[in-house]
Amino acid sequence: MHALQQPQIAQPRHGHIYALIRPDSAAPVYARYEEATVHDEDVAVQARYVVQWLDALGAPHETAVTITTRRDDPGYIPYEPYEISWWRHYSELQKAGRRELDERIRGPSNTTFPKNTGWRIDNEPIILDALTIKKITWHFTQRRFKPPVGTQRAWSDRLRTLIPWTKVWRIKSFFATPRDQVTWLKLQHRNLYLAPTRDDPNDSSCPLCTQHQNQLHLLQCPVICRQMWNPLLNLLEDMGMRKCQDTYAFCALGRTDQHTVVDKNYSGVLFLAWRCLYAELVRGRVEDVKPVIKNAYRRTLIMLVTRLTAYGEKWLRWVRKNRETGNKSRIPKRHQDKKLIKQDVDGNYAINPRILAEIERTSN
Ligand SMILES: [Zn+2]
Repeated sequence: MHALQQPQIAQPRHGHIYALIRPDSAAPVYARYEEATVHDEDVAVQARYVVQWLDALGAPHETAVTITTRRDDPGYIPYEPYEISWWRHYSELQKAGRRELDERIRGPSNTTFPKNTGWRIDNEPIILDALTIKKITWHFTQRRFKPPVGTQRAWSDRLRTLIPWTKVWRIKSFFATPRDQVTWLKLQHRNLYLAPTRDDPNDSSCPLCTQHQNQLHLLQCPVICRQMWNPLLNLLEDMGMRKCQDTYAFCALGRTDQHTVVDKNYSGVLFLAWRCLYAELVRGRVEDVKPVIKNAYRRTLIMLVTRLTAYGEKWLRWVRKNRETGNKSRIPKRHQDKKLIKQDVDGNYAINPRILAEIERTSN
């Protein structure tokens, strides 16, 4: 233990900032090391430290105060230099020029916990201060789950049908964001929390039909079926999706039959539907009102158009940018028809008109 706590005195390097600590005191002074300046073998300026002033956020600023390294100088103090631990917030965005440079000192390395490095998520090394919310969400939504055997059995028992599990766990969307995916992934894993109604911990009735509310009921509730699942399935089939055998197993797990799951062109719609349905149930619970499933359905469609537009625009920009540079700039044939959105070779895109017609239909 003692060996672990032995602080490591640094060998100072020119231009780097160190925590200077006196052997008899713990409070560090932060200072940048400057090597001696030499002119024709004469030392013009001795090696020294330039004291840094830390602002309220811990960002260092140069001062005019210097600290000598020479024992024979009258003002000499026997400081020892230690490496410091930095907080480089959003360092990748800073490198990309999308955020201003923002580097903060957290303290001497040996006394700062937790360290930024040495951590892992799913056995992949990560750097703490480089983790953005987006990345954290990504790690928790995209991670390869171990096949949850208990979960699989629980769903199979309730849906009473054969489910191609390995394919279920691989369902991906070309446009849904990590946040969009959280709700459906939780439901697939039988991990979607449903709060009791009316502040009564024993009241687990559905706020829409008063039947017992659980995750299975979200698929079977007559109100949710009428206002969400049925119109959604009709829309998907109108846009060319193969008819599914069992609507409960399709909405819960994307199963189309015992060997296949929802095609990646359509899966994004289910992610958005679950996100919007759950948001509406939570809103009803928080505001103590009856959820309006029609609004959740409409919200799903509007969000769908937003996501598809962003997707179309992204590739249109890609085509225009690369065309000027002579890079590859054409959208290959196999990527042009994504059922919900069609693109041509130049990146011009059109959202499936049936989605827009459905928004129109639900507007009154
Ligand atoms: Zn219900």
